[in-house]
Amino acid sequence: MSIETQAPKAEPASAPARRRLPARRRLIAATRKLRELASIASAVAGTSHPYMAHIVPMRRCNLACAYCNEYDDVSNPVDIEEMKRRIDHLGRLGTSVITISGGEPLLHPELDDVIRQIRKTGAIAGMITNGYLLMPERIERLNQAGLDHMQISIDNVMPDEVSKKSLKVLDAKLCLLAEHADFHVNINSVVGGGIANPEDALTISKRALVLGFSSTIGIIHDGSGQLKPLGERERTVWDEVRRLTRRSYSRFNGFQEAIANGLPNDWRCRAGSRYIYICENGLVHYCSQQRGYPGVPLAGYQTADVEREFLTEKSCAPNCTISCVHQVSYIDHWRAPQTTSITPGGAGHGAADGLVQIR
Ligand code: SF4
Ligand code: SF4
Repeated sequence: MSIETQAPKAEPASAPARRRLPARRRLIAATRKLRELASIASAVAGTSHPYMAHIVPMRRCNLACAYCNEYDDVSNPVDIEEMKRRIDHLGRLGTSVITISGGEPLLHPELDDVIRQIRKTGAIAGMITNGYLLMPERIERLNQAGLDHMQISIDNVMPDEVSKKSLKVLDAKLCLLAEHADFHVNINSVVGGGIANPEDALTISKRALVLGFSSTIGIIHDGSGQLKPLGERERTVWDEVRRLTRRSYSRFNGFQEAIANGLPNDWRCRAGSRYIYICENGLVHYCSQQRGYPGVPLAGYQTADVEREFLTEKSCAPNCTISCVHQVSYIDHWRAPQTTSITPGGAGHGAADGLVQIR
């Protein structure tokens, strides 16, 4: 199957025809959906447990995207027994969704055991990858391990100096996933700082839908410290991709819309509580852009910490671009006003030099 290399015109278009899944995969998808609904019901029923954790089994990456501040090219994989202890602790805290992040998770030699351990806790198992290392046999092992979700970000149609995560390189991997993966695949495209051709996002999104995947779109901001509205071309692409992908959960609220318009959001960030980020050193952080807060070992993190952070207002919330934390926090947007506050001093939201991608 070939990819479009011409940027499509931005005129309104109907959604591409989606690939029909075989019956076995439809059954797996239905079972997964039931587990997801149960996890949401549990999150609505009580606020004392995390809904989602991102956990890093290795910081090293085989790529070096210009906007990324979440990788190195030297670190070793975290020992598998230590990973299992961390995952078990997340399970005891009642975490509903555990997503493996990085660096590049596929570089971890015992990634399948990490996934199995997540599933043993009863949690939904997700993974964010650049997809470069996917092969049919590797995808089959991920099926066997019980992976539920995979997200791949594709930044452009042709590779450039900002990102090698291009459709040209990755289309063959997407075809392998369409053929072999039993898990749900989401393809994230991006517009914004450093992305040369905004129209690439529309090409990528259409390709994802044709292959039977879901698709989302994010924004990369530059490091000026200010949210900026999207330019005219970017806005046109943004609107069209959002129209094509209107089943995406992120459309249920105006968070990303405000970011696209360069406006602050009024919301309660539940990081450290409903969402937690576990780095390769086993420390709990609010999110990938606020590493160091609270920066304490996961092994000692208890329900009382989850409850305290639930009620702690983060001063970085208005200009935050971390979409996944907002989506998790939205579960509780109607309840529990925050009673204490903290001003994290981490990199977040473009305060650091360079580019920051919405996750
Ligand atoms: S964005 Fe992903 S693929 Fe790119 S350098 Fe960062 S971790 Fe690696
Ligand atoms: S950067 Fe965003 S997600 Fe992270 S602590 Fe601040 S408001 Fe929460």
